[in-house]
Amino acid sequence: MMDSEISRMFEENYELMRLEGGHALSADVKDAALNQVLFYWRKMREVAENVTDTEVKLNLPEKITPQGRKYGIEGVVDIIREDDKTVMYDIKTHDSDYVRANTSEYEKQLNVYAHIWQGLRGQQLDQTAIIATSYPNSLRDAIASNDEKRITRELENWNPLIDIPFKEENVQETIREFGEVVDAIELRQFTPPSVDKLKSLLPGKKYSFAVQVCRNCDARFSCSAYRNYVRSSASRTDSLLGRYLNDFGSDLERENWRFSNLVVTPSPEDLEV
Ligand code: SF4
Repeated sequence: MMDSEISRMFEENYELMRLEGGHALSADVKDAALNQVLFYWRKMREVAENVTDTEVKLNLPEKITPQGRKYGIEGVVDIIREDDKTVMYDIKTHDSDYVRANTSEYEKQLNVYAHIWQGLRGQQLDQTAIIATSYPNSLRDAIASNDEKRITRELENWNPLIDIPFKEENVQETIREFGEVVDAIELRQFTPPSVDKLKSLLPGKKYSFAVQVCRNCDARFSCSAYRNYVRSSASRTDSLLGRYLNDFGSDLERENWRFSNLVVTPSPEDLEV
């Protein structure tokens, strides 16, 4: 019953986003996205049902960067108040293994949100946590196998809730780092990371930064670090220029792109005036 309601809402949202953004998904990708929402509901139903304040907007205005520019920090979180306990959740579409291996990345942002909640709103927080909605590969394989027992087992093993400790002492340093980023953007300083960084494996992942991040980055064809990475990774027998110019993503990415464009391209009859 709830599954069909979620599917209906998903379809409505998808249509709205397709019309607004002009981007469509191929049937496979769309099914995978719906599956992610349905399994997230199966796993996190209790948390989802108990959220008391959804999409709470947090604001920290009037901050000043190290170089004197005015800026503000904004964020959106979910809050659960139960009895006399308040928990703040930040929902991420990342996978839980990655979040666990990189908690410091998430800690900074969530600590600033907790600081805003407690400091500006004057309300106590008892716990802060990330909800990582992307399910692990083991569950993905189980879903593909259609084996309900295996799915149930993998669903039980999946723990998308990751506690993030609140460290007030780090908040000012994080706000200062945000200010540095604002200064760098305003000064048009967009130096990419080193080639070594691109080659390094991401913590908790078997993929490198180049494969996991750069391959999804629209700026890669004008990025000197990515260009150098391709050059340094190519073997002698490879045509460097050919490899670089022919890098349109994985087969799956290309297929999705092709199908998506077929879906949104108007038929010749519709173009006739
Ligand atoms: S390709 Fe994109 S993500 Fe990768 S280093 Fe360059 S700008 Fe950064």
